[in-house]
Parts: sequence; C-alpha cells; structure tokens
Amino acid sequence: MKTISSFGFGSSGYSYEDARIVVFGAPFDATASYRPGARFAPRAIRSELFGLEPYSPYQDKDIDDVEIYDCGDLGLPYGNANEALRLIEAHIDSLIEDNKLPLMLGGEHLVSLGAVRALANKHDDLRIVQLDAHMDLLYDYLGEKLSHTTVMRRAWEIVGDGRIFQFGIRSGKRQEFEFAKKHTQVQRFNLDGLDKAVESLRSFPVYLTIDLDVLDPSIFPGTGTPEAGGVTFQELLDSVLCLAGANVVGCDMVELAPAYDASGVSTSVACKVLRELVLAL
Ligand code: MN
Ligand code: MN
Repeated sequence: MKTISSFGFGSSGYSYEDARIVVFGAPFDATASYRPGARFAPRAIRSELFGLEPYSPYQDKDIDDVEIYDCGDLGLPYGNANEALRLIEAHIDSLIEDNKLPLMLGGEHLVSLGAVRALANKHDDLRIVQLDAHMDLLYDYLGEKLSHTTVMRRAWEIVGDGRIFQFGIRSGKRQEFEFAKKHTQVQRFNLDGLDKAVESLRSFPVYLTIDLDVLDPSIFPGTGTPEAGGVTFQELLDSVLCLAGANVVGCDMVELAPAYDASGVSTSVACKVLRELVLAL
C-alpha cells in the first residue's frame, strides 16, 4: 500500500520487516455529523509525540523497546467513504498477511469499519471492544449508511449479537439504546465491568476501538462531538492496561480533532493514551 507521508514513531529504529506493531494514519472525516477536523489528527499526533517521553512510569516500559513501525498516512479520498473503507481494509489485509498488529490512527470513527471488515474476514469469532461517549448504532444518518454515527451498526451486521462490548456510552438516540439492549453489551456512563469483559473474552480475538471522546471534554475538548460527563485520563489508562490481558488483534484510536483545542492539550492527551496503548499491547 502506497502511503503519502512517513514519520518515525518516537525514536524506534525498527524497520517494517522487524516490527510487530504497525501504526498508520487514516485521515478521513467526511461523514462527521457535527464538527469535522479529525483528518488532521495523525499528523498532529506525530508532531506532538516528539514532546512525550518514550518511557512510561505507569508500566515501567519504554517505547524504544517496542518493535513498532509507522508507515505513514493512507491517501484517502475525502468525499468517498466506500473507497476510503476499501483502502483501509486492503491495507489492514496486507498487515495481517505480514503478521503485523495494526494500530490505526483516525480520522473519524467510520474508519474502524474498514479494520473490522478485514479482521472479521480473518477471525470469524471476532469480538469488538468500543470505548466511546456515543453508541454509533444508527441504521443510517440522513439516509447514509456509512457514517461515524452508524459504524457500530455496520460492525454488528458483520460480527453479530452480543459480540460488541461498549463502554463509557452516554449519548445516542433512544432507538440506539433499545437496539443495544438486544444486540450488544453496553456499559453506560463509565468503564466499570471492563475487567470482567476482558476476562470473558480471553479466548477470543478482540478488535479494540478507542473513540477518544469517551474522555471528559474538560481534559479532551479537541473532538468533533464532545459529550460532558466522560471518564478521566486515569480511568482510560486503567482500562487500556486491563485490555492488555485480552487477545487484541487490531486496534484504533479515533476522533481527535486537534483544531478545537487551541491549547493543544487534547493532542498531548491522545499521545499519552497512544504511548500507554502501544506499551500495553
Ligand atoms: Mn464513536
Ligand atoms: Mn464518540
């Protein structure tokens, strides 16, 4: 897959061939239902990473010791969600083929669908863990079936009942909450029960999708659809560490929209989540 830019990840000196984890950006935000801007997240994250210590005192591990490679951003056509998803799926297919663990930086949440398609194709017992303020379970949004508001509904159509575990959810239409009662496992408002979910998922391959708007907007205002009442950084960190116990076969971090936070703190928070995620995987 051709990429349009490539930056180092911290000071990791690993090549693609030697890498276990491969990071790439999916700079797409064309279906954002409220405020666009997530397409600028991957480059903002790379830029901000230079300001972050590679060492994690939480885990006593160092990014420099992780076999990770950043292969840059996919060139995605902004107006064409179908084609963008096809390119993401193809890219992840090639990473799976090469035995790499894909870590995608969105972009809006719809990009996760490309990853789920690729991974569900490989693992027919795939489970999904979604950390998010929003259900993302609408059947369509203004008639569009491909939207960041419908991404988990499309994912459910692929993986089926009881296989999507949603945490931190505090926003959605009544019909989404009713749909979730029947078809997904939902933890509203917080991340409680994640440890039990991880325990129950031990024998299954897991796709982990972190919609950063799960965080409270007081620490993470740089996002397209902020929802008050979110989790703290520490709670998200604890969850990421807990998820290290699962068989994560792919993951993403989506919905940072750097321009909505002039202080830049949201981007630095995203980088810290990313560091801990990489070290936990
Ligand atoms: Mn979402
Ligand atoms: Mn969200």
